[in-house]
Amino acid sequence: LDAVLAKIEKKQSAAQAWQSTIDARANAMAKLNDPLLAGRAAVIPDVGYRVLRLLMGSDDQRVSLPDHPVILIAEDLSPSDTASLGRGKVLGFVTSPGGPTAHSAIIARALSLPAVVSIGEGVLELENLTTVILNGSTGTLTIEPDAAALGTAQAQQQALQTAMSDAQKTAGQPATTRDGHHVEVVANIGGVADAEKAAASGAEGVGLLRTEFLFLERTTAPTEQEQFEVYRAIVRAMEGRPVIVRTLDIGGDKPLPYIDVAPEANPFLGERGIRLCLNRPELLRKQLRAILRAAEFGPLRIMFPMVADLSEWRAARDMVAEVRAELNAPQVELGIMIEVPSAALMADAFAKEVDFFSVGTNDLTQYTLAMDRMHPSLAGKSDGLHPAVLRLIARTVEAAHAAGKWTGVCGELGADPQAVPFLLGIGVDELSVSVPAIASVKAQIRSLTLEDAQQLAERALASGTAAEVRKLSP
Ligand code: PEP
Ligand code: MG
Repeated sequence: LDAVLAKIEKKQSAAQAWQSTIDARANAMAKLNDPLLAGRAAVIPDVGYRVLRLLMGSDDQRVSLPDHPVILIAEDLSPSDTASLGRGKVLGFVTSPGGPTAHSAIIARALSLPAVVSIGEGVLELENLTTVILNGSTGTLTIEPDAAALGTAQAQQQALQTAMSDAQKTAGQPATTRDGHHVEVVANIGGVADAEKAAASGAEGVGLLRTEFLFLERTTAPTEQEQFEVYRAIVRAMEGRPVIVRTLDIGGDKPLPYIDVAPEANPFLGERGIRLCLNRPELLRKQLRAILRAAEFGPLRIMFPMVADLSEWRAARDMVAEVRAELNAPQVELGIMIEVPSAALMADAFAKEVDFFSVGTNDLTQYTLAMDRMHPSLAGKSDGLHPAVLRLIARTVEAAHAAGKWTGVCGELGADPQAVPFLLGIGVDELSVSVPAIASVKAQIRSLTLEDAQQLAERALASGTAAEVRKLSP
């Protein structure tokens, strides 16, 4: 608004001042390499367009849909169009471009709406009111199915709905296998609203608070007080359940306009996560002060991202000790993310010093397989169930347990139903998943036995490819 008002004072029209400011902000956001954050960039032009329509006095042209349930096929959907679908008669949607982390896909996941993206332009040729089967699990669209295929799909749909509502009913119960092994199921969150939903959805805590969300869409870093208030609100929302706060994970791939990083040829291999924070100690110190002040209000743990080397962990740990002494703050547990292969390989050395590990399978997969996690044509191969990734997780768990510590998984793999039995069998102690996935992950764990999972894990670790591992999945 400040930027818009400044332009209006320089005699630009309100509409022009508004639109040029929106365009500049959207361009800056779209350059962020993080799929989640870049996906959020799509909100800005969308909101901008809505305000512009009001400024211009135009009518609000909403998508008009037939008054019976439909599957929507679109070239693309704006985030606000997608958000409005959940309340209407749309059973699911298909877009011809898009990606699994595009904003429409993120919103669809939050609404539990089946969706298939990036299906190709041919789909736009379909006639209105063609009968189709949309399967979001397999990513397929069956055109003009016969009666038998329709019957099978309807039976599958019914079974899935029953399983989901059964899972919701038991979301508050612990995730204990049939042979009595408990796995902690906790939430990945980005802010206070997510924490409130997590607490109501059966989460036993927060396994990953991505604090970078507090730093986005602003022109300056949040103050210590602002950060403290958010962390305190989250701890309070979780009502005594533990909350793992991950320190700022930005860098070449997730730049912030107010943090100067020199241009890098390979931002994923550049100044990221803890590396960036240790090079800007005041930024980290301020965040640690806010977190440690909030620790007075409930059980907080601190986790450092992108740790590749013991010296980074030790520098971060020492800074926590200094800040804690300054504030006379309570003792908090400290852990690291295992998302760089060097940290997994050195897990025995780390395990002697840290309180816990949490495996970031999104990054661990990209660094182990040398496949950019956002690369559209590598998406099919960049699979966290690759035996190389599983071996690194197994090594981490073994090192943690030998030292009496625990290991969680907070990457997307933790909510993949095909992956859950393997992670359990490898000995992972905690799964941290998106809020809508909590109930079903807990229900799945309750349907398994640790013994079967261990046998499966052994076979997975001896497999040659991710595809072979997926074939083993029950
Ligand atoms: C990960 O890398 O798996 C992770 C959980 O962190 P992020 O997705 O925020 O990089
Ligand atoms: Mg990561």
